[in-house]
Amino acid sequence: MKTIISALIFCIFQCWAAVGVAQEFGALARIDANRTKLDDKLWGLQIDLGLSQPVPFRVYTLGEPYRLILDFKQVDWAQLPSDFIEESEKVTDARFGAFRPGWSRMVLTLSEPMIVKTAEMGTENSAGTGQLSVYLEQVNKQDFGEKSTPPNDALWDLPAFKADMIAKKRQDGTRPIIVMLDPGHGGLDTGAIYDGHSEKDLVLQFALELKEALIRTGRFQAFMTRGVDDFISLPGRIASARAQNADVFISLHADAVVSGSASGITVYTLSNKASNTSAELLASQLSRSDLLAGVDLTDQDDELAGVLMDLARLETFERSDMLAEMMVLEIAQSVGKLRSRPHLSAGFAVLKAPDIPSILIELGFMTNRRDLNNLITQSWRSKVIDGIVLALDSWAVEDAAAAKLLRQ
Ligand SMILES: [Zn+2]
Repeated sequence: MKTIISALIFCIFQCWAAVGVAQEFGALARIDANRTKLDDKLWGLQIDLGLSQPVPFRVYTLGEPYRLILDFKQVDWAQLPSDFIEESEKVTDARFGAFRPGWSRMVLTLSEPMIVKTAEMGTENSAGTGQLSVYLEQVNKQDFGEKSTPPNDALWDLPAFKADMIAKKRQDGTRPIIVMLDPGHGGLDTGAIYDGHSEKDLVLQFALELKEALIRTGRFQAFMTRGVDDFISLPGRIASARAQNADVFISLHADAVVSGSASGITVYTLSNKASNTSAELLASQLSRSDLLAGVDLTDQDDELAGVLMDLARLETFERSDMLAEMMVLEIAQSVGKLRSRPHLSAGFAVLKAPDIPSILIELGFMTNRRDLNNLITQSWRSKVIDGIVLALDSWAVEDAAAAKLLRQ
């Protein structure tokens, strides 16, 4: 069915407002609805976007499903007509919004393989307006496959992997532990929405409080993959942990129940094999949210292959596992009893840093009344935060001891 989900639009405009505050508004190009349309051709598709000023842009196609990605620096989508894709048989879905600070993205899902034949940003000198004109030409599947690859830097925030990245010295107790907190979702990816609350906001609030608590101890440095309502790709989250030389990566979520009636806190570590089906469902659900940005990253760690990597993974796996065990222990002490089997593993893409111990904490399930109530209650959050800080403290000591043993 050809609809732009209204909830998504709502979110995008909200996100836009949040992102816009942090940036200078002068650079913003606005959509001119009168000069904006899709036009189906017999063997292709004409896309016209009227803009209040010309902006740098780029355009490319990706497969599975066939998609056209348009990146702009930087567009306010508020004036995009809601029936923008209604007349077109060749575009089945449109998603758009702020993509990363300073950049906007539009993703059009195409009903058939088409590649970019021409793309140009025209300017009207007297008015100073811009007009993006893109012509897509229908091709067969093979041609589409050959000509539809993301540009090298399509992930922008994902640095190319280098072997020396894993040569980083692991912590040995002689310096503060660097913690990267990763509030899940953000921007056009809202995460779970339930009873007027959205996951992306709840986990951001929690991460801000946890960051403060960690810094207050004087024993930790804490950073966040996002401190505002921004979309960040899953590899982008890992990349920012690496950029800060993080010792530990903690992703924070509060998803909706995928199946069954789960409730309570769960700590996840990475596994190739899920420890149960609902854990795997959750992992695939979170990975899919990255599709919102138009780039599917499921095969992206091919380049991370190699013996060195496997060795680092093995060591990191054990360190992550110990961290998760301590989390479960300390959080249970702090908030009372946890659910049975509070430590699970699944193939979460965001936990795949080969060199940084990583865990994902589901703070609860928004679909559970009591969990949601906990999440919005400050005293409950601060109990959980106490537990997390204690767990990190004990982990740091044990981990440093293990590092010394390795060196001997
Ligand atoms: Zn989530």
